[in-house]
Amino acid sequence: MNRFSYARPGSVADAVRELAGHPAAKVIAGGTNLVDLMKYNVERPTHLVDVGRLPGLKEIEEAGEGLRIGALVSNTAAAYDERVKERYPLLSSAILAGASPQLRNAATTGGNLLQRTRCYYFYDPATPCNKREPGSGCPAKEGQNRILAILGTSEHCIATHPSDMCVALAALEAVVKVAGPNGERSIPMADFHRLPGNMPEKDTNLHADEIILGVELPEPRFAKHYTYLKLRDRLSYAFALVSVAAALEMDGDTIGEARIALGGVAHKPWRVEEAEAMLRGKTADRTVFAAVAERILDGAQGFGHNDFKIDLARRAVIRALSQAARGTPQSQTDKRIQ
Ligand SMILES: Cc1cc2nc3c(=O)[nH]c(=O)nc-3n(C[C@H](O)[C@H](O)[C@H](O)COP(=O)(O)OP(=O)(O)OC[C@H]3O[C@@H](n4cnc5c(N)ncnc54)[C@H](O)[C@@H]3O)c2cc1C
Ligand code: SF4
Repeated sequence: MNRFSYARPGSVADAVRELAGHPAAKVIAGGTNLVDLMKYNVERPTHLVDVGRLPGLKEIEEAGEGLRIGALVSNTAAAYDERVKERYPLLSSAILAGASPQLRNAATTGGNLLQRTRCYYFYDPATPCNKREPGSGCPAKEGQNRILAILGTSEHCIATHPSDMCVALAALEAVVKVAGPNGERSIPMADFHRLPGNMPEKDTNLHADEIILGVELPEPRFAKHYTYLKLRDRLSYAFALVSVAAALEMDGDTIGEARIALGGVAHKPWRVEEAEAMLRGKTADRTVFAAVAERILDGAQGFGHNDFKIDLARRAVIRALSQAARGTPQSQTDKRIQ
């Protein structure tokens, strides 16, 4: 590990000032991702800004018709909050699909949004990687890419965003609240994470001198017909190969509004609004779901080891929509797939 200085500011304004005053500074919250990356010499901050004691960021509060989850709320606290469980069970389920109980106790909402890719080459400073060292190359395209992206890739990077929570937040159309030197702003989930393009080193549209204050969930609509289906190599404690957050409004067998987001397939949670529109007014049925899955996977490209993900994702979408329509969400404790 490299040498770094450390500050624990007492206000959001001070935290923002600390970031602005140190160009190579990093925020630290639960530390479950950042500290690992520092030990691997992947992240080399010269200054750490510990946000752990900032006031007002540990609460889950009513926000209009919705709910605001502070950046420092642990994944455990968010998943087991009665209001989240009752009004946004999709989010609760997605969080519980991730990591382990011990990690979820330490991991925070803000840190989960900004956790970095699990691409093997990114974690190994002995290899080139455009995300770690822009311009050095992307060995994953011809190398070990089993866990990597099939949608929205670029010639520069085929990494995936690993979060489960973010997939549900994308489907629920949450908004990320952030603060910087010019005050506060809101970033819709759809715009928060980026595709790699020719700047794979930039995971999100958050500026280096901004901190996350929390996420706001809109009015709850999908508490009855939802599922978070996560497919992975082991039944627990593994990142998604493919995951699907599906949320439907149902009137009998007829679908009203629909939201679908995929994890494990792209550099950001993957949403295709035209595919969601294909469900509106339709009877819930496997043929319709198959057409929707085709549309979502339109343009998918494998890189060898991960070719299997295209068909896996297609089948996962159909399965997730069937579970959501039936009102039989995937259990994160009993991981048999219904
Ligand atoms: C073994 C293991 C298995 C895991 N499995 C899963 C899984 O299956 N699914 C899943 O989704 N996740 C999984 N995780 C990832 C885990 O969820 C993240 O490490 C965690 O959510 C990060 O939160 P943190 O508070 O510890 O962040 P930190 O490590 O403190 O920070 C992570 C990043 O966020 C930034 N940051 C943190 N808070 C803020 C803020 N308020 N404002 C601005 N920047 C901020 C930091 O600067 C850093 O870049 C796993 C992690 C481990 C170690
Ligand atoms: S896929 Fe992205 S993170 Fe992985 S080696 Fe290529 S550039 Fe690096």
